[in-house]
This record gives sequence, C-alpha cells and structure tokens, in this order.
Amino acid sequence: MNLIGRSPGGRIVWFVTRSGWGCSAATEAFVAGRPIDPAAGKRELQVHHTGAIDDDDTPNRWIIADAAAYMRRLEVVRPDLGPLPYSLNGAVAEDGGLLLLEGRGSVTRGAHTAGHNVAGIGFGLLGNFDKDDAAAEAADLVSFTLWWLRRQGLPLDRPNPRGWPVWGHRDTANKSCPGNHLYPLLQTVATAGAHTLEDETMLPLKRGDGSPPREYRRSDVASVQGMLNIAGLVLVPGYSKIITDGLYGEATVAAVTAVLGTDGEDVNGNEYAALVRAVVAAEIKRLANPAAEVSRDDVLAWVADAIANG
Ligand SMILES: [Zn+2]
Repeated sequence: MNLIGRSPGGRIVWFVTRSGWGCSAATEAFVAGRPIDPAAGKRELQVHHTGAIDDDDTPNRWIIADAAAYMRRLEVVRPDLGPLPYSLNGAVAEDGGLLLLEGRGSVTRGAHTAGHNVAGIGFGLLGNFDKDDAAAEAADLVSFTLWWLRRQGLPLDRPNPRGWPVWGHRDTANKSCPGNHLYPLLQTVATAGAHTLEDETMLPLKRGDGSPPREYRRSDVASVQGMLNIAGLVLVPGYSKIITDGLYGEATVAAVTAVLGTDGEDVNGNEYAALVRAVVAAEIKRLANPAAEVSRDDVLAWVADAIANG
C-alpha cells in the first residue's frame, strides 16, 4: 500500500497492489495468461460501478479491509467474465481519502465493456452510485486516475459520445452504470491540480493545526483522525472514536497518544507513515483471521519497523 498522490479535490490517494489486498495465486496465474494490449492503443477510460454497497450507513464509503474483501469477491463473482474483470478498481475511503486497488492491470486485457476492452481501461468504482452517497468524491478519484494513468503513458484521449473526457458504461450499454449520481459528474472530470506528494511537505502536523490561524492541512488532520479511529477501535481497549473534523485539538492529542504511544503533540512524517502501515497491517491481519487478537505490542513492532524502513 503506497501513498501515490493528491487528487484535484485535495484528497490523499493510496494504491493497493493485488498482493496488498490478498489476491489468490489462481487469479495471478489467470492474469499472467491474459493478452497484453499496446499501451498506445488505450484511448478510453471506461467508468463503472460494481453495484454492491458497503454494509453500513455510508453505502459508497469503504474501510480498507472491506474494500480488500470486495476485491477478493471480484475474483469469483462473475465466472463468465473471469477473475477481476476490471483493469483497476477504486473506492472512496471512510476517512475521506481515496483508494486505487489493482485489478488485472492497465494493459492486460480486461472484461469490463463489451467492444471496448482493447481500447479501454475499465475502472470499477466500489459501490452503487444510483444511491446518493460519495459521488463527488468518486468523480474526484476518476479525475486523479485519468491523470495518473496518462502519466504512465496511456493516451486516454478519446472522449465519450457526449464529448466528455471519460466514458460511463451506459454510453455503450443499456445499463444505469456507473449510477445516476455519478454519471453526470463525468463531464466535470479534469486533471488540473492532481500531483504526487514529492512536491509538497505534507507533515508535520501539530496541536492547533486545522484551526485559525493555521487552517492549512485541515484535510491532512482529518485523514490522521480517520486512521486513528480505524487503528484505535481495533487495537486500543476502551478507545472511543474521535470526530474527524480536521481540528487538531485535545481529543486528537489523546488519540495520538493512545494509538502511537507518543506525547501526541505532533505527528511527524515517520509517525504518519507508521500509523498508515499499522492500520493496514491490522486490517489485513483482522481480515485473515477475524478472531485474532492484534496486540498493542504487534502494532508498536510494526511502527518501529516502518520507521526503520521508511
Ligand atoms: Zn458497468
């Protein structure tokens, strides 16, 4: 799981590889046997939603573990299309960040859009955007993805029949996909502002950030708060969830202390990376064995390892 950039809307974007979400050896063998198409021939970004919703009160927002579990479902759910029909999948994260999840890959032939599997990249967003939840965030992720794939040398330069920069499945099939709330937003997709994080100093954050006179990085504080809640609820006995309001105040100080064991007054880059890795490791471990206890010592070991290894 890597931090790969920031979307035009200012959201942090993560990339989860097939091994990161737990792809099976059988699927890897299937993908390896699929035809490879020329990158220069990839001219259409074909946007889909996968249909099934996340089972809570935010149907189109996912925690990493549930998104990973859904990817494993995509290995088997459509035997007629084969494992992982999409080239790439995406999800809006519960904490407001965005996830890209590796599917078959950008030049490996997918099975997503009849008649457009050679010229198109199939981008499957987790959720059902006929429901009114997270469509703006999903469109922001589509914008980032268009920028990110073009940066890798895929032209993706052919507009849809309406002249929009990306396609929706309903452009070529009698379907509502990618959903009534997301489809109209595809005309607003634009790559300006997307960037890697090499050219910005994301952290450190410290007490007071997010409030006047230090409003900057409010979204970063919110992202940290979201991760603290994910890690805290799993790992810290008696942890109570904090509000992800982007304000680094007393509650956030206490949560940082509870989860990371530091004084909580600030979060530097290494601690941030450590928090991310601890969250992912905890979620994957929990997913692999829902009954397993993840101890605080496990997390501190991952934190130490993450700091040592960058
Ligand atoms: Zn579709």
